[in-house]
Amino acid sequence: MVKPADTPMMVQYHDIKAQYPDAFVFYRLGDFYELFEEDAIQGAKLLELTLTARNKNSDNPVPMAGIPHHAAQNYIDILVDQGHKVAIVEQMEEATAAKGMVKRDVVQLITPGTKLSGRAGSDKQNNYLAAVLPDGKSWAMAYIDLSTGELKVTTSRQFNDVIDELRSLEVKEVVLRQNDSETTKQQLAAQLGESGLVISMQADVATTATISFLTQNLTRELEVAVTAMLLGYIFDTQRRNLDHIVPAASYERLAYLKFNQDTRINLDLVENTRTKKRAGSLLGLIDATNTAMGGRLLKQWLLKPLRVQADIEARLDLVAAFQADFFTRGALQDHLKSVYDLERLAARAAMGTMNARELVQLKRSLRAIPDMKATLASASGRLPVAGQQLDDMVDLATLIDDAIVDEPPISVREGDIIKPGFDEKIDAYRQVLTDNQQWLAQLETDERAATGIGSLKVGYNKNFGYFIEVTKANIGKLAENRYERLQTLTNAERFVTPELKAHERLIIEAQAKRTEREYDLFVTVREHVKAEISRVQTLAQHVARLDVVSSLADVADNHRFVRPVFTNTNRIAITQGRHPVVESLLSAGEFVANDVMLDEKTTMQLITGPNMAGKSTYMRELALIVILAQMGSFVPAQAAELPIFDQIFTRIGANDDMAMGQSTFMVEMAEANHALQEATAHSLVLFDELGRGTATYDGMALAQAIIEFLDAHVHAKTLFSTHYHELTALADHHPQITNVHVGAVEADDGQLHFLHQIQSGPADKSYGIHVAALAGLPDELITNATQILAQLESQNARVATPESVQSEPTGLAEQVALFDVTTTDENTQKLLAQLDGFDILNMTPVEAMNALNELKQLR
Ligand code: ADP
Repeated sequence: MVKPADTPMMVQYHDIKAQYPDAFVFYRLGDFYELFEEDAIQGAKLLELTLTARNKNSDNPVPMAGIPHHAAQNYIDILVDQGHKVAIVEQMEEATAAKGMVKRDVVQLITPGTKLSGRAGSDKQNNYLAAVLPDGKSWAMAYIDLSTGELKVTTSRQFNDVIDELRSLEVKEVVLRQNDSETTKQQLAAQLGESGLVISMQADVATTATISFLTQNLTRELEVAVTAMLLGYIFDTQRRNLDHIVPAASYERLAYLKFNQDTRINLDLVENTRTKKRAGSLLGLIDATNTAMGGRLLKQWLLKPLRVQADIEARLDLVAAFQADFFTRGALQDHLKSVYDLERLAARAAMGTMNARELVQLKRSLRAIPDMKATLASASGRLPVAGQQLDDMVDLATLIDDAIVDEPPISVREGDIIKPGFDEKIDAYRQVLTDNQQWLAQLETDERAATGIGSLKVGYNKNFGYFIEVTKANIGKLAENRYERLQTLTNAERFVTPELKAHERLIIEAQAKRTEREYDLFVTVREHVKAEISRVQTLAQHVARLDVVSSLADVADNHRFVRPVFTNTNRIAITQGRHPVVESLLSAGEFVANDVMLDEKTTMQLITGPNMAGKSTYMRELALIVILAQMGSFVPAQAAELPIFDQIFTRIGANDDMAMGQSTFMVEMAEANHALQEATAHSLVLFDELGRGTATYDGMALAQAIIEFLDAHVHAKTLFSTHYHELTALADHHPQITNVHVGAVEADDGQLHFLHQIQSGPADKSYGIHVAALAGLPDELITNATQILAQLESQNARVATPESVQSEPTGLAEQVALFDVTTTDENTQKLLAQLDGFDILNMTPVEAMNALNELKQLR
């Protein structure tokens, strides 16, 4: 890289840049960070900076763009949010102390996954960095939020599970092992590239004491390795103390109710799919938390509902206790409002970036804890026990309170931080300062009296220090030799005297010593906090939990939720269930509540009814109730009895699949296949209008085959909405399937209204004609339409039953006749031979679809 013409500075720059080829290098030069060469050209575009050049007139002008160092954070955030990395290069010695080139080094590499400074409103969001490591059989995945120190790790047999976990965590950056990552890299990029995922490489990591400490709870070798790799990357890029990182905890995805990204999107769990905002999502509705920690924990609970009943009940007990005790809840929440983000404060203490204001925030937070404990102690049920877990850390709060003033400045280097009375030396310096200020004030009076100049002033100027100012007209009145000229202005002269100089020296000295000592003491207090980080973090967890359960009690009250009951029977009995988000968007009373009843023997409801009647709302509603219940929340219903589910599968509506270059139908089949392969008798499956994406018979045949497959092999609780009215006949042959429909419409002033009411039995076949009649079409026309319908029905397809497939020339089997060919036809021979070859019972839906396609080719 080094060119012959390089100045020593550019040699140094190129050395550093060579180590960070994929980062923007912010090279500190005095009060600026400079970007050079390609970085400057790109940076000028992305950040709208002025592109200039160093050594403009030489043969080799170097493109350059500068950023004032105090404004750097904004620019760094912009670059990192766009998926870039930024290497911060600082001067490692004072320019005056340097022999030759000032030593410079990278002090931090800021990347999308390690970025700490948050945009406004991001405090309820985690920012995760992950590492992925395969060993041929399985995949280990570790993730960390550097701003809170949370570190988790899990292993999976399936790559798809890893991908899905990365999606769920909204991971922005993944670290892979340098040596064996090419395929993994391609796989990840193929799956997650569109979400702007940044992939970083890490060479093998030597085990240090810190790494051993942070991996001490892990038993699987691969998990230790992936965590070490993640930590290696963090330590390499951050280059500072990270004592706030909590030893890694391993978790099993199996411990949680599992659902994939499609389901999160289909159900609008954390953001509204249409608006991409939190508002209009389930999270938006149920987030009434009062702290950032609570906000983050709530989202984690929502995305990982539990499966162990005792754990769910423990959460529900607390929600119930708070719901029953309005007074305690209100008082607790008032105290919560004065608690700052303890997790992030602990992190800043560890990294040494905590300023005095944040110390005061920590103190205020800790000061709220005794009140919280008192509030909870006087409540009933489980609340006092929850209160006892809170550590009020009086020692630390008192230290900060004694040492730090209540409203310190942001800068920690300029004094005004330490309270009077805390340190004798600082008090003594302050005394010197006060005495001298008084002397100065007296000086003016004395000098005026001595000289007889009424307009004489004593003043201060940043460049010249203290002075005595006399207008030009009065200069003659000054005693000679006593005043030394300092500065000449247009109308006045400024002087000093030896005594004034002496006092000035005392002031400057006292000030310098005071700020230095204040800084030292501030650091000592911060070190005390650092020594207690794990206590602060444990407190943060308890506070977050109380925040979440008490806010869920608010939600239960405000939205009329009830406590769900889990039974060991495989029965769903929801009385007057509601879709909480749809309900919240309607005016009061407009939402029609519905029962969801699937007794032990019923595995499937076939839901029929016109478009826009409320079928998918009803289906989503059940999934949301299940998720809320298993995360430990009350649910939107009058009563809810539920089994505990292991997984939820959904195929609902059309996503933006087309934009991804896959046909909707293919995606639909892939999702269906996923459910058919993975679902168990303890799963919940929601299939909305499956098969709609292809031709009628084709789609209907598939829908029926899928229903029968679910019925024969899966036994998951399934809601299956369909507009193939013919499918409702399946209930006649399959005792585990029942029909429900969404109540039709009624006319009101010529307007049609949906009833949105779920009723038992199949929908009315002649619904369309019914609507036409309500809309006032001529009687004659309606009668004619009714006759045509009857005629069509007698000719047309019915569902294929085992008997009809074997013997009756009706039903789907009849469709073969539509080809209108004789068996001597060569094509037909081939077709029949091929048909015979299909092992329908053992075909996946996708195979069935391909098979149909092959048959079509034969025509
Ligand atoms: P479908 O799946 O049958 O086409 P949707 O479930 O998408 O119908 O519902 C269409 C619209 O009807 C929803 O956006 C909502 O505004 C309204 N809706 C659905 N269910 C209800 C209900 N139970 N009460 C009131 N309005 C509802």
